[in-house]
Order: sequence, then C-alpha cells, then structure tokens
Amino acid sequence: MVIATVNPFTNKTVKNFAEDTPEKIEKALTTANAEFTHWSHTSYEERANLLHKVAAIIRQRKDELAHLITTEMGKLIAESIGEVELSADIFDYYADNGERFLADKPVKTERGEAMIRHSPIGVVLGVEPWNFPFYQVARFAAPNIMIGNVVVIKHASIVPQCAIAIENIFREAGGHAGVYTNLLIPGRHVSKLLSDHRIKAASLTGSEEAGANLAAAAGKNLKKSVLELGGSDAFIVLDDADIDKAVEWAYFGRMNNTGQCCIASKRFIVVDAVAEEFTKKFVLRMSNLKVGDPQDLDTQLGPLSSEEAVVHLEDQVRRAVKDGAKVLLGGKRIDREGAFIEATVLTEVKPGSPISYEEMFGPVAVIYSVKDEQAAIALANDSPFGLGGSVFTRDIERGKRVADQINTGMVFINHPTWTAPELPFGGVKRSGYGRELSSLGVEEFVNKKLIRVSDVNDPL
Ligand code: NAP
Repeated sequence: MVIATVNPFTNKTVKNFAEDTPEKIEKALTTANAEFTHWSHTSYEERANLLHKVAAIIRQRKDELAHLITTEMGKLIAESIGEVELSADIFDYYADNGERFLADKPVKTERGEAMIRHSPIGVVLGVEPWNFPFYQVARFAAPNIMIGNVVVIKHASIVPQCAIAIENIFREAGGHAGVYTNLLIPGRHVSKLLSDHRIKAASLTGSEEAGANLAAAAGKNLKKSVLELGGSDAFIVLDDADIDKAVEWAYFGRMNNTGQCCIASKRFIVVDAVAEEFTKKFVLRMSNLKVGDPQDLDTQLGPLSSEEAVVHLEDQVRRAVKDGAKVLLGGKRIDREGAFIEATVLTEVKPGSPISYEEMFGPVAVIYSVKDEQAAIALANDSPFGLGGSVFTRDIERGKRVADQINTGMVFINHPTWTAPELPFGGVKRSGYGRELSSLGVEEFVNKKLIRVSDVNDPL
C-alpha cells in the first residue's frame, strides 16, 4: 500500500509520503517506551489538561481539519465538520470522566480490605481505518492517554495528512514526544510490531482480514487485542412503524459517510404489511441526489474513498444482479471523473446467497420483505456479522423485545446504530470483540490489579 493523499473527487495524487524507516520506527518506540515511565506517573489532572487542550485546538481548527478529511477520503464537508466536533467532544469527555471510571473498586471480602486498582500497561498500538480519520483515533487515544498508557498509531495509508495533523496537535497541546506517536507504515508491517517487547497490546478497527492478521500476531506474542471490524446492520421496519420517519432514518443510516460506516444500515428488513409503502418512499428519497464536489455544502452524493472502493462495490452489485437481485435504483458507477457510484437500491437478493453475507461499503441499500416480526429477527441474525442493528416500531416495549433477540453488540430502537462519547461501541461474531468508549472501553487496556490488605495477626 502506497502512503499518499489521493483526492477521490478527482482520483489525482495530491501528495506522496515516504514510509518510516526501521531506524525511525526504532527511535519512535524507544521514545514512547521512555515516555511511558513518565506519563504513567502523572496525575489524572495533568492528563485531563492535555486532552482538554487537544480538544480546544481541534475545535479552533475545525474547518481546516474537516477540509483535510474531505480531501483525503471524500466525506461530505458538513459531515467532516461533524466528525471533527465529535472527536473534540470525545477528548473532553474522557478528560472529564476518566478519573471516575478508573477509581479503585472495592471488593467485598470476608476479611480485611480488597480493591481493584486500574493501572496503565504501557505502549498500546492503535491500527485505524480511513472512514473516520479523526473520530476513530479519538475513541482509542483519549481513554488510553487518560489511563496513563501512551499510544502509537498506525493510521490507514490513504489518510496520511490527517494522521500527521493529529500527532502535531498533541505536540502543540504540550504533549511530550512519545505520549502520542504516529507511524507512517503500510498495514503489512503491523504484525512485526506486535513482536516488539515495548508494545503491550493492540486494537484494530478495519476489515476482517486485517483484524485476523493482527489478532494472530497478538496471540503469538501473548498480547491482548481488541477488534472493531465490519458489519451488515439490519434495519427492521415493523408493521406499526412511522413509515415516513423510518424512511428519513433509513436514508441517514445508509447514506451517512456515503455509506462507508461499519454501523451503516445495510440490510433493510421490512414486514410485508408496510414493505410496498416503505420501498416506494425510500427509493424516492434516494433518487435525484445532487452529485458533486464533497467540499461544497450543497453536494448530497460525493465520491467513495478511493477508486478501488468503487470497483469493488460495483462488482458486488453486478454479482448480486447475476444472482437474481432486482435493481430499483442506480447500480452503476457515475460517468465522470472521480470515485463516484450511484445511490443504489436492490431487492430480491436471496437470503443465504453469497452476496447476502457480504458487507456493502457504500451507498447500496438492500431491501428484504418478510412476513412478520419473527421472520425479521431470523433474517437479521442470518449474518456472519454482529455489530449493530435497529428496529422501528411505535411500541417501545415491543422494540425492546425484538432488540433482545438480535445477536449483535448494539441495537437501537427508532434510530440507526449510532455513536456518542458515553456509549460503548463494538460487536460480536465476525464484527470483532472488545469494546471502545464508555467505562467498558476504558477497561480494555488496564491492569485490573487486586490489592488485598490483611491483618498480620489473622490466623493462618
Ligand atoms: P482495512 O483495509 O482493514 O484497514 C484498516 C487498517 O488496517 C489500516 O490502517 C490498514 O493499513 C491496516 N491493515 C491492512 N492490512 C493489515 C494487516 N495485514 N495487518 C494489520 N493491519 C492491516 O479496512 P478499511 O478498508 O480501511 O476499513 C473498512 C473496514 O473497517 C470495513 O469493514 C468497516 O466496516 C470496518 N470498520 C469497523 C469499525 C468498527 O468500529 N467496528 C469502524 C470503522 C470501520 P493500510 O491502510 O496501510 O492498508
């Protein structure tokens, strides 16, 4: 993988970056490891001050950073601004709440006193994807830095300027060299890092293949890993749903980030009683989008992240059609410069067919109609993935009952799967394991150390 900024609006290379040399990587790991000795002994107040400063700089530079995201991976500019703001909120949230999450937890014991202390573990590696270049880093880095760990980030090769910008922000905020380190290396070099004694654990957000590689290397070296992988979220519409509202949320759930979200609504499972109405209205909502420059505020459909992404998605649509799917809208790449593909709606994808088990990472919605609630749940669970999912119904108790039967890490009622600094995030099955964000995320890379106090005069 070449490390470069290639603007997907034009498919032209903007800037190439040299890979870090082995000497540079060695120096970075030595610095990070040395800084851990210092950082792990700082107070929560000092750590929170750094994170608050990082958040403040991100907010000051909101427009510039959003412009960078849009240039490197094509996100609509309003969404890039939203991502930058959310990232600043995450840094602030863990600065404000980290100490509370990490407080000693007393353990009731028959004699004496016992507690769990949360101690930092060292240098932790974060391998990050391009689809949310700031948010993904924030949700890994903020809790870890608050814990007293130091982080080394290997960001996706197509967003090097975002990667470098975040490291620079940490330095500008007063972070010592080694608290936050960015490495410019391709994914295939990641496994080697896991065998370095200075790296104590790793988290990867990305594809199943990359996750499996990282987990294998972590396992071989007896190190903990957290994996946040792909998803194919079901968006269930029950007979009592508010269809107009469901259509609006369906559009948002599928089209946010031009469909390139792990938690995007990808499989629309609609009960027969409302399937026709939902389908008609949803196809209309996906139609006639204004295609153009993602830097323009009025553009509704921008490019995908790269030319490769369009080629792959178009091939998936072609295979679905070959296998009997019907195209209700779109289906082809757009005949213009850049990595554009039409907003697409498919039906009649056969449950159980190979394509029904693949993740469609772009603006392609698949609508399935099913006879009732139980059939909707069964189809939702017929997926190798288990990330998120949603249920639309006017009856909240019914929604909770359905949510209980969906085998994923997150289920939202009357909203597509979503994220916030305080909500845990993660999946089951081939969507990975472990959690990011909330107290659950904070606890992934800590030593939960038992401290037990006994009376020396206790009987043996
Ligand atoms: P990707 O190709 O797996 O890349 C993700 C990261 O892994 C990049 O930094 C990449 O580096 C690195 N990588 C690639 N091959 C590797 C290997 N063999 N060993 C270790 N690291 C390796 O995924 P992507 O295309 O950027 O992201 C899309 C995928 O991420 C989708 O499946 C999406 O659903 C998933 N995702 C999941 C979540 C979640 O929280 N569950 C969130 C966002 C995205 P290079 O760029 O250098 O190849």
